[in-house]
Amino acid sequence: MSTGYGVWSDLIGQDGAAGRLVRAAEASRRVLAGAGGASVNAMTHAWLVTGPPGSGAGLTARSFAAALQCTGELPGCGHCQGCRTTMGDTHPDVTVVRSDQLSIGVDVARKLVRDCAMAPAGGRWQIIVFEDADRLTEAAANVLLKGIEEPSARTVWLLCAPSSQDLLPTILSRCRQLNLRMPAIPAVAEALVRRDGADHERAMTVAQAAQGDYERARTLVLDPEAAARRSAVLRMPTEARDIGRALNAAQALVDAAEAEAKAATEALDASETEELKLALGFGQGKGAGTARGVAGSAGLLKELETKQKRRLTRIQRDALDRALNDLIAFYRDVLAVQLTSGAPQPVHADLRPQVAEIARTSRPQDTLRRIDAVLRARRAIASNVAPLLAVEAMAVSLG
Ligand SMILES: [Zn+2]
Repeated sequence: MSTGYGVWSDLIGQDGAAGRLVRAAEASRRVLAGAGGASVNAMTHAWLVTGPPGSGAGLTARSFAAALQCTGELPGCGHCQGCRTTMGDTHPDVTVVRSDQLSIGVDVARKLVRDCAMAPAGGRWQIIVFEDADRLTEAAANVLLKGIEEPSARTVWLLCAPSSQDLLPTILSRCRQLNLRMPAIPAVAEALVRRDGADHERAMTVAQAAQGDYERARTLVLDPEAAARRSAVLRMPTEARDIGRALNAAQALVDAAEAEAKAATEALDASETEELKLALGFGQGKGAGTARGVAGSAGLLKELETKQKRRLTRIQRDALDRALNDLIAFYRDVLAVQLTSGAPQPVHADLRPQVAEIARTSRPQDTLRRIDAVLRARRAIASNVAPLLAVEAMAVSLG
């Protein structure tokens, strides 16, 4: 059956996975109807959707949640109340966990285990979509395991992670797995043309530059600042030949990641703080003490501030990681030219002259050494080395 309808048409290059999920949603309807002897035991209560960042694991899981709640003729019709509210994050029986934190703790896991045991208000399924299940701390994962091991009859867990190795084996063994691949470049380009109005040639270049990550490609098409940041990063190989310029470029890269993270979080931080202050009674009434909120509120504000700082750090790291990925791809393009006179599909097709120039003026072993320097910087940042130190060390090694 074709899956080019309703919620499924938003998934890019995942026809096989969508087909499996449609069949599973059809089976779930037989369970609800008690048809053909299908009992609730036939229901899969825990799924794990895996796929590299950009493959759309979170969207796939939410589409499946919509299909399970769907009352239309075809599961995931996209029009019924169940589909619309699930996709709009307002369905009473669908909890979506989307963490912007580096790790997810026991308190979140406990709440989910409680939530999932509630009877579904709509009479169908109580669904938890957990978009970053790989970020669970081990203690939190063990709490979650309890909810997954003994699900109530109407509970469905949809966990998402980059790969199955990111989860505890005990959780893994309880889940049915669905592996997404990175969508093919032409599928991403087609979506950029159809949905975002890119012209065909630019769509192909950008889909390739984003290495199949539709959201990243879309950002490059629609956000000139993001496109400028990418160009700045990819000037590094040329600029690194001069040590002063290399260090400047390193500083600029770290600053840009910080600015990107600030832009993404500032408004959110302010509204969260405002909301908490209101809840704590700041600035209300005229009695003594109200201007400073109820007793003990300083601790809660401090906690919120810590959480916001961690979120900023994570977004900045993600931005740097993307930039370093772009650099690695640049040097892979260089290596392809040095070893085989060029890949048929270079990642950075718009930078052929720069790639050719670096390829001509260096040897393959230089290129490998440079790729290694970028990989080292990525590892250093992931293990909490100050980003500027890591990126400076890398910039010097690229020269
Ligand atoms: Zn529907």
